[in-house]
Amino acid sequence: MHTATLIQDYRLPPERVPQTVVETLARDERDECIRRIKRLLQEQDAALVAHYYTDADLQLLADETGGHVSDSLDMARFGYEADAQTLIVCGVRFMGETAKILNPEKRVLMPDLNADCSLDLGCPADEFGRFCAQYPDHTVVVYANTSAAVKARADWMVTSGSAVDVVKHLVATGEKIIWAPDKYLGEYVQAQAGAEMILWQGSCIVHEEFKGKELAELKRRHPRAKVLVHPESPASVIEQADVVSSTTGIIKAAGELDADTFIVATDKGIFYKMKQAAPDKRFIEAPTAGKGATCKSCGHCPWMAMNSLTKLLATLESGNNEIFVDAAIIERAKAPIKRLLDFAGQRKQLIYGNNDA
Ligand code: SF4
Repeated sequence: MHTATLIQDYRLPPERVPQTVVETLARDERDECIRRIKRLLQEQDAALVAHYYTDADLQLLADETGGHVSDSLDMARFGYEADAQTLIVCGVRFMGETAKILNPEKRVLMPDLNADCSLDLGCPADEFGRFCAQYPDHTVVVYANTSAAVKARADWMVTSGSAVDVVKHLVATGEKIIWAPDKYLGEYVQAQAGAEMILWQGSCIVHEEFKGKELAELKRRHPRAKVLVHPESPASVIEQADVVSSTTGIIKAAGELDADTFIVATDKGIFYKMKQAAPDKRFIEAPTAGKGATCKSCGHCPWMAMNSLTKLLATLESGNNEIFVDAAIIERAKAPIKRLLDFAGQRKQLIYGNNDA
């Protein structure tokens, strides 16, 4: 039986969540946009890195131009290894910041600097700092989905693919732990690692909308379907999963599991890569509707959707939307990230490409 010290609820109120707006272009407009983006990427020696949740056209462009499609840490890792001096990050702000922290000498641009994340917004650095100060003997573990300033206050940064192993290690060495910001992922990690942590009460507004009761009903209608769930989802959804995993793990499971139909509880942008991994299989969105539901994102992150072809083109044309992180913050934020990488290296774990944000 695990207990958590309850603190203030940092779930983002609905009025702070933008509506998900997906850009739709006429065919010739889209093709022209893609043609100009490809030319500018080449002329500017820029590499395009896109998250799995972004628009399929952006993922296609990253694939076709020698860029990369992945999760946040792997996006930053790619940026580090790429020769390109400019990185265009299609994702949300903390991903641009992580890319900058690991590649401070490179120019990092994003199509829209308003592309945020409810976990990041729900964990303001100053309030988090005051909170941590109340528990000076605790080790501070933060998820990748946090600002550079919050990472700078942490001892460890973890990803969804590495969190359980890191927390097990900390439990074995007798550490007391503060976890932030996602309460659902924190509860899942507690249960898996046999830990007791003080949980910051943030949540992802996309995964929080998946509904356990309606998922059970959908499973009854598709009895042979396997259920793939991201651990930012509520416990009532996680407990019905065949596989609980990071975005990369979910894509891998779609290709490897012996099933022809999958119910998927994560942002539907991931279907682009899942269909590449398993072109003959069928993917069904986990339900966000149902009794009492007030689905706003409805399975697609409003901030991820701010990344569009026209904004990407405008960024390349103008050079605007650069990510800057204070040098002192970069120095401090590097330490918890490096701790994770060293930990993974010692255990010969594949951290890059096996995690998420
Ligand atoms: S899907 Fe959730 S965790 Fe991911 S960027 Fe959007 S709000 Fe943040």
